[in-house]
Amino acid sequence: MKATTSSGSGASYALPVVPRLAARRTTYTELELSVYMGCPARYFYQIEEGLRGGRDNAAYPRFHRCVYTTIGWIELQRQSGQTVTTAAALEHLAEVWSQDGPLEHAFESYYRATAEGMVNAMMTAVYAENGRYAREEWSVPVGERRVTITPDRVVVTADGTVHVQRVRTGRKTKSEAEKPIYALLRQGAAAKYPGVQVNVETFYLATGEPVEVSEKNDAKLIEQYAVAIRGIEAGAFHPKTDARICPNCQCYFICGA
Ligand code: SF4
Repeated sequence: MKATTSSGSGASYALPVVPRLAARRTTYTELELSVYMGCPARYFYQIEEGLRGGRDNAAYPRFHRCVYTTIGWIELQRQSGQTVTTAAALEHLAEVWSQDGPLEHAFESYYRATAEGMVNAMMTAVYAENGRYAREEWSVPVGERRVTITPDRVVVTADGTVHVQRVRTGRKTKSEAEKPIYALLRQGAAAKYPGVQVNVETFYLATGEPVEVSEKNDAKLIEQYAVAIRGIEAGAFHPKTDARICPNCQCYFICGA
């Protein structure tokens, strides 16, 4: 098996590189680059080749989508001056669930109860918030390219502080704060709200708890996006295996890993 070298990180891989070049672009989404950082081959099949299905239709992503769609609806109602009750939010969840939820799954009732708990937690947070929502897409310069990102939540409180939140459905982990997305959110917020106090946070739906993510070595974290862009544009699409992730990947039988 031929070993190859990624021009991005300089690391060597024992598995073959997919021999295709991607078109250069001026803009990438954060999600695309995080897929590449997780596994370049997966990026190639999912983003360049447009391979979908598999895990997208699995129970967890469906549960996840229903929760996020409902949260988006709650904020939209609030933003347009409507009063939202917890009962109305749960009713909306039920509607979304009937269309996109994991209805046939053996653990459907578990997923549903968890989703309802999360919507309840978000409603508690929303009731306690005194401010306006300002969620929109940001375009953050990274080298000569731009990376777009829409924060999960942006809440501008009455004292003018901007809370930029990444919402997580899972448990609190130590590694969460080390992810490059937080550096990108900080950089985007600094450009959007110059001279304003900005708190970048993780909002854990399981507990309803916002946790501030303080600044790390942001230049180094942002560089990870630049490395990913260089890798994509150099056509470095090697499989990056992970015993925990690969079995759930829809590219499992085609990537050569
Ligand atoms: S199965 Fe693993 S190595 Fe193959 S594309 Fe998916 S994540 Fe990458």
